[in-house]
Amino acid sequence: MFRFSNVTKLYAGKRALGPIDLELGRGSTTVLIGRSGCGKSTAIRLLAGLTRADSGNVDSGGVRIDGSTTEATLRSVRRRIGYVIQEGGLFPHLTSLENLRLAPRSFGESVDQINRRVHELTELVGLSHPLLERYPAQLSGGQRQRVALMRALMLDPEMLLLDEPLGALDPMIRAELQDELRVLFKTLRTTVVLVTHDLAEAAYLGNRIVLLDQGRVVQDGGVSDLFERPATDFVRSFVAAQRGFDCSRQRSGENQHTDGAETGNQR
Ligand code: ADP
Ligand code: MG
Repeated sequence: MFRFSNVTKLYAGKRALGPIDLELGRGSTTVLIGRSGCGKSTAIRLLAGLTRADSGNVDSGGVRIDGSTTEATLRSVRRRIGYVIQEGGLFPHLTSLENLRLAPRSFGESVDQINRRVHELTELVGLSHPLLERYPAQLSGGQRQRVALMRALMLDPEMLLLDEPLGALDPMIRAELQDELRVLFKTLRTTVVLVTHDLAEAAYLGNRIVLLDQGRVVQDGGVSDLFERPATDFVRSFVAAQRGFDCSRQRSGENQHTDGAETGNQR
């Protein structure tokens, strides 16, 4: 279970998020969308156990996080969560392989276990093994994000949190990685929360879109709900601002990608 219950997060007395209530079903892929500063990263950081709520609580995989949660408990939450940020967040002074080994080693995994996992994930994300000997600065943006994704998956997380993971990539590499992420979400069956500000990406990768504005959920549903049943004027203008995004074309495109049987990536 992953759930926000009446959660509010303040920074310097100012509300960054909340109050929000949100439940994320196991194995689902949810997209958090909204303009810059609306609280998307704050929501992700709360789920990841990187920060605590000021009121209410977050249930992260059966562990309750609130204002009094200890650092040891937060660490146990982080053990079960994979987290990727826009720039990848790889340590620049470590090779890719060293980046991948760091967390599993600190949690006491054996060298054999780690090597096996690296091998599996190299195949899964389509990287060639020699690239892992390189430092992050010696990789292209797309390769770096693939390594960051591998690193997030090393501990076989219950939940994968992706905070604008493709935001810094050029359109072609971005489209390529969108395709790969979509396949990956289906293969892994992990609970995924993805942040983006791009509605086309949201519609392509998620089956549920949660639109935030000023720290609150303003609409929660499928992409067609945003177009056909906008909950507020803000939703209407948010959708209108996504120029060039054609809801009907997107949906027919989706069908081609999902063999007709399902839309989005609901499992
Ligand atoms: P988003 O990811 O949607 O762009 P954030 O969750 O990063 O938004 O930020 C929400 C609000 O909280 C913003 O007003 C931001 O300036 C503020 N904020 C985020 N992190 C911090 C922080 N560490 N200290 C102070 N203010 C912060
Ligand atoms: Mg952010």
